Amino acid sequence: MEEGNLSLEELEKLKKIKTQVDNSFFKVTEGICPKCNEKMIKVIENDSLFDGALTFHIIKLRCNKCKKEYMDLEQAEKYDMFLALKKISEKKPIDFVSNNLFHKILVEAN
Ligand SMILES: [Zn+2]
Repeated sequence: MEEGNLSLEELEKLKKIKTQVDNSFFKVTEGICPKCNEKMIKVIENDSLFDGALTFHIIKLRCNKCKKEYMDLEQAEKYDMFLALKKISEKKPIDFVSNNLFHKILVEAN
């Protein structure tokens, strides 16, 4: 009977799927590395844009064992916004962006 072999194959398949799921699972609210189960250290990365007009503080968690860095959902969203603004700052000259920004603020204030 092939039944035994078949279930072993299925087991291997399931194991593979489970590993893939575990690897993409970024639940780091407890500050524990999902890979090594080690306590991670908090690292704050400061990034500024538009000549320092905008500063982002991204809180990351770093695992000392595997050197991987993680962010929680809130920080990841912040980082996405930072990257989007970074793209804008690279495409357009600083003066153009800030002039438009200040004009917008002036218009809204009146
Ligand atoms: Zn780790």
